[in-house]
Amino acid sequence: RAVEEPEIDFSDLGLSPEMLEALRRIRYITPSPIQAAVIPEALDGSDIIGQAKTGTGKTAAFGIPLIEMLEERGKGPQALILAPTRELAQQIVAEMDNLAANRDVAICAVYGGQPIEKQLRALQRGVDIVVGTPGRVIDHIRRGTLYLGDVVHVVLDEADRMLDIGFRPDIEKILRRVPDPHQTLLLSATIEPEIRRLADKYMFEPVEMLLSKDEPSAETVNQFYVTVDQDKKTELLVHLLQREQPEQCLVFTRTKRGADKLADRIRRVVKGVAVIHGDLPQTSRDKVMKAFRTGEIPVLVATDVVGRGIDVDGISHVVNYDIPEDPENYVHRIGRTGRMGRNGVAYLFVTPDQGDPLTNIEMLMNRTIPPLDLGDYEAHNA
Ligand code: ADP
Ligand code: MG
Repeated sequence: RAVEEPEIDFSDLGLSPEMLEALRRIRYITPSPIQAAVIPEALDGSDIIGQAKTGTGKTAAFGIPLIEMLEERGKGPQALILAPTRELAQQIVAEMDNLAANRDVAICAVYGGQPIEKQLRALQRGVDIVVGTPGRVIDHIRRGTLYLGDVVHVVLDEADRMLDIGFRPDIEKILRRVPDPHQTLLLSATIEPEIRRLADKYMFEPVEMLLSKDEPSAETVNQFYVTVDQDKKTELLVHLLQREQPEQCLVFTRTKRGADKLADRIRRVVKGVAVIHGDLPQTSRDKVMKAFRTGEIPVLVATDVVGRGIDVDGISHVVNYDIPEDPENYVHRIGRTGRMGRNGVAYLFVTPDQGDPLTNIEMLMNRTIPPLDLGDYEAHNA
């Protein structure tokens, strides 16, 4: 693709007046590069592998054409969207609802941790699009409560993540149930060999759109590392929160227990701290995400359960309180800020023995991460 492509408008993509109106309403004026690439091809019916950095609008890249291609409601959904986490499934539903504003489109989320009866009723009322996590989708298939016979579009969102967390067997089981012919759209921030293998097996001559395969980092995120002793981390975090007064801050820990403990400790001095991880009941996770999205909660301590895909406008700061075990996760964590051209700040706490993991991250990011200037704080602590 030529670098100097003229800027295009959503109205150049052959969209319906209803869709253009919905886009105006949510103030999407120009399509992002991945949207400009994917939307026309998807409307043509091709299978697509789309890769673009996190925060570049991949949801609407598949959501817009899906909604445009819907036909009259049948017995079961026409589109099935698979996503790695419950929070992401909810976020996709919210975006699809926006894109489908002012038309009769029924979208249903299907994920674990929520009473299955509620989902059953929604499915029985009739749906056009189902957004689900693979495990719960399989559950419904087993119970015979999700009819896949009408599915003509399948989306694998955050495909790399779904494979990472071991959803491959579930995904394959589901894909084998979808009748042919159908269209498959695969979206991912990274395209690894395993994704290729899945695509070879289940996709038909996919069109590949790799928009940023050599630049994993969001240039809009200002990154710094700080060397700090393990037992000084909490104090440093509190200092940074007080110094920076972030609009919203997402703090990543390595373990669920670590997240709970850290949240308890900083709650004593910092206002509006919440915690989220996979051991909490879904109702709590929902409540926390909702409050975080509205900005009611300024500081969220989390495990990598929200490391991927989650999009919250106000996140100005990401703190890697514990260094991510897999350097790839660093890219995803910091991608929670600096989205869609906005600026963000990311800090990485490194204990004195963690030089190697820092180097691995720098190699993956293809850049050196500078140390953070702590000014007076450092002098005071020395
Ligand atoms: P990705 O899946 O690539 O990480 P998202 O689909 O979550 O990205 O989108 C990132 C953010 O950009 C969201 O807040 C979304 O509402 C916004 N967005 C998406 N497309 C556009 C657009 N064309 N114009 C303006 N904002 C957009
Ligand atoms: Mg996404």
